[in-house]
Amino acid sequence: MKTERSRSREFVLEVHQRMLQEYPVMQSFLTYRNGFELLIAVILSARTTDQSVNEVTPELFRRYPGPDALANAEPPDLEKIVHRTGFYRAKAANIKETAQRLADIHKGVVPSDMELLTALPGVGRKTAHVIRGTLFGLPSIIVDTHFGRVTRRLGFTGETDPLKVERDLETLIPPEVSHSMSMRLNKHGRVYCTARRPKCGDCPLNDICPSAHSESKV
Ligand code: SF4
Repeated sequence: MKTERSRSREFVLEVHQRMLQEYPVMQSFLTYRNGFELLIAVILSARTTDQSVNEVTPELFRRYPGPDALANAEPPDLEKIVHRTGFYRAKAANIKETAQRLADIHKGVVPSDMELLTALPGVGRKTAHVIRGTLFGLPSIIVDTHFGRVTRRLGFTGETDPLKVERDLETLIPPEVSHSMSMRLNKHGRVYCTARRPKCGDCPLNDICPSAHSESKV
């Protein structure tokens, strides 16, 4: 429910402050040891749970510890390892090709530039923002299903298309807190502001949220 107040910088910063209090320490839901592993893990996380990715990546990175090794992997071997993450043929092809391009074009290093990132197979804007925010500390609006739902309920945006949500929120959320806000509202959408039966009664935003206890949640 978008209102004049919910589109104010003051309101956004108040929400962020409360999210910092509720979730003082944020860690990636994915397990990784370096930029290469984070990039591959995020590609694999499309349309599946982070848990299923964390179950396959130890074996994947044990056998293919860097871009060169992964680029030279046999597709059937990769498909077998990533099978339980779903869409395994496409994902195996994407991570192999991404590793190839990292090795050939980027000297084995994950780039920070949005255009270079989204040119990699399997990397969309959401993945690119995760990488930019997590690895490089750059401003990042990470629009996934949880973040989109919570920001609509808070009245930050009325958009549903991910790119429109991103564009809308770029002008509202200060860049210095955008990554922090993305991570914490994502978590908030998993903990309190769930798609079905959000826990408004216990939510630390329920005295300022325009959708609190509303029957018509977006
Ligand atoms: S008060 Fe309810 S609708 Fe608003 S953010 Fe909290 S859980 Fe979501």
